[in-house]
Amino acid sequence: MADAEIGVIGGSGFYSFLDEVTEVTVETPYGPPSDSLFLGEVAGRQVAFLPRHGRGHHLPPHRINYRANLWALRSVGVRQVLGPCAVGGLRPEYGPGTLLVPDQIVDRTKTRVQTYFDGVPLPDGSVPNVVHAAFADPYCPAGRRTAADAARGRDWEPVDGGTLVVIEGPRFSTRAESRWHAAQGWSVVGMTGHPEAVLARELGLCYTSMALVTDLDAGAEAGEGVSHDEVLRVFAENVGRLREVLFDAVAALPASTARTCACAQVHADLELGIELP
Ligand SMILES: [Zn+2]
Repeated sequence: MADAEIGVIGGSGFYSFLDEVTEVTVETPYGPPSDSLFLGEVAGRQVAFLPRHGRGHHLPPHRINYRANLWALRSVGVRQVLGPCAVGGLRPEYGPGTLLVPDQIVDRTKTRVQTYFDGVPLPDGSVPNVVHAAFADPYCPAGRRTAADAARGRDWEPVDGGTLVVIEGPRFSTRAESRWHAAQGWSVVGMTGHPEAVLARELGLCYTSMALVTDLDAGAEAGEGVSHDEVLRVFAENVGRLREVLFDAVAALPASTARTCACAQVHADLELGIELP
């Protein structure tokens, strides 16, 4: 199996990332990931791209097999993940086309499996121990810096930091929910950031979210509220420059063997009970 060191999990409207790719089907103890992995090279770096919702966007956020997705990426060698996603802005100044690199996350999802350490035996008979991953800072500091610098390098001044609140979906927020999210001081709202980030952390992966605002959320605007068509339209308008920023970020990420962040050390000295791929 070909190896990759950097993973990109593409969101709504971002199905293809690389021009020349090798398609690889990966099995995991948690079932199939959203799609095949597409392996290719960017600026001399080996990259694995995974369409988060599957090609054709057939998986709603709550049906995505997040555990399989992160496990599959790690099993082909990925140690750093960039997670572009479409979000709604919770403040008037975060209008469509804003790129926000969050540094915090709030989980408002309801039904999702959010850990590998649930005591359920894997098919190989190993049993995960009870493990509590440190998650005070949910995103990789080096990845965040790299992503924000890459955006600036393309004259796209990002919002550097902020809180991504993740809702269960697939419906959008009511006005009351949206106003409440804004009143908490949270920045943007999405449907996939959790449990993607925490599962990456549990696997010792560096994870960076790159949140593209496609609309103002219901409480932050005066019109009819969000529509899926609007989300896809704005994403399509910005996908070209987001691709450029992602390419630059991939090129600028540290070598996976030279990481100085704490992400890979999350389980140092802990007995996991299972072997990470
Ligand atoms: Zn890291």
